[in-house]
This record gives sequence, C-alpha cells and structure tokens, in this order.
Amino acid sequence: MSFAASVLTLYPEMFPGALGLSLAGRALEAGTWSLEAIQIRDFATDRHRTVDDTPAGGGAGMVMRADVLAKAIDHASPAGDPRPRLLMSPRGKPLTQARVRELAAGPGAVILCGRFEGVDQRLIEARELEEVSIGDFILSGGEPAALVLLDAVVRLLPDVMGNVVSGEEESFENGLLEHPHYTRPQEFEGRSIPEVLISGNHKKIAEWRRAEAQKLTRERRPDLLQDAKIRQG
Ligand code: SAH
Repeated sequence: MSFAASVLTLYPEMFPGALGLSLAGRALEAGTWSLEAIQIRDFATDRHRTVDDTPAGGGAGMVMRADVLAKAIDHASPAGDPRPRLLMSPRGKPLTQARVRELAAGPGAVILCGRFEGVDQRLIEARELEEVSIGDFILSGGEPAALVLLDAVVRLLPDVMGNVVSGEEESFENGLLEHPHYTRPQEFEGRSIPEVLISGNHKKIAEWRRAEAQKLTRERRPDLLQDAKIRQG
C-alpha cells in the first residue's frame, strides 16, 4: 500500500515540482507514493470557468467559491475515501513532526491549496477540512505549503531514506534540536573538529551530542523543552 496524495490547485503545473527530484522523485517513480494534481477550474460551471468571487461584506481581494471547491473535493475524494482532507491555511494548526509521522503512516492525503484571500468558510465546515499551517507568515498560495508538507511526509515512507537511523535522531524526534555536525577536513580556516568526535569513544560521543542538543534547545527553542515537560506531566 503506497501513500496517495491528491492536490487540488489552480496551478497543477507546480506539481510534482521539487518533489519530482532527489529522494522524493525516485520514490514517486518507484511507486512508493503517488501524486495527482487536480485543476480546480475544471469544476467551475460557468462559461468563464470562475472559481472565485468578491467577499461577502466587502473588502479587498477575492474568495474561492464553496460550490466549485466542493465539486472538486467530491471528485478527488468520494464518500468512503479514508484519507484526511487538509486545507493549507495560515489559520491552521501549525504542522509538527508528530502530525507528519501520523500522515506518513496513513493511506495518503487530499490537500486543498488556497489562493486569493482564502476559501469560503462553509466549504471548510461542510467538507470537514483540517486546516494546516506551515508557519506564521503568509504565502501567496497553498501550493508551496503543500509541497513542504508532502516533502516532510514522503521522506518518512518506508524505503525512501537509505539510512533509517538518521531519521530517528533528527531535530524534533526526541523533543530536542539536533546536535551540530562536522566532517572532513579536520582543520577548516583554523577551526578543528571537537576532540571528542575523533576520540572513537562512542559512549562519550553520545553524551557530548546529547549535551549539545540540550544546550542548543535551551538557547534557541526553550518552548520545546517546556512542551516535553508538559507531555511528561
Ligand atoms: N487572507 C489570508 C491569507 C491568504 S494567503 C489570511 O490573512 O489568513 C492565500 C493562500 O495561501 C491561503 O488560502 C493558503 O492556502 C495559503 N497559505 C498562505 N500562508 C500559509 C501558511 N503559512 N501555511 C499554509 N498555507 C498558507
């Protein structure tokens, strides 16, 4: 069973984009996951293929129409489709590695990419869309956000990453940011690799890495340590 992504967008040409290359691209070719980019405009009903209209109550910009989007979603994800339906949205719950892991363990995702000011609220409620944000900033459309989400998911699919261990020791996987990395040359512009890393003492190396990870997390993301404490009660 492979991970099936259906993306609803006004710009299907943006897919697979960056996900057609490297690890994700190879996995796509190998059938580890599949990607279908669906043109929302194909579900418009008028002669001009309109997908948006002016906001009720006035104001700037345009809003994507509930009726057109509902048709597109119902086509991509008919009744009984077990996949979660996501809406990329700056108002959504911030994406976490934990949610990425859940998605990667599931059958796939149906992902709606917004444009303009966003989508009609009634569509979000009627189709029970899960709003997902990739951060506190505004993109011009949901497509780059969908690519980010899929990139994070696909690298966790079985057989996508050659070295499984590296997936488990990374930032966020244990509530900490990752320790710093070094590789040859031994000397770079007068800076050496920390002594312990070339000592061959694996226990010491593991301790050093853990201490560095904790220090880095305390300095840069104390909120992560706080979250971990709350989770542990
Ligand atoms: N008027 C909206 C922003 C619309 S941006 C507001 O102020 O909240 C247009 C589209 O880009 C959104 O519908 C959404 O699909 C996408 N988008 C923008 N920023 C995003 C983010 N941080 N995370 C996920 N999707 C985002």
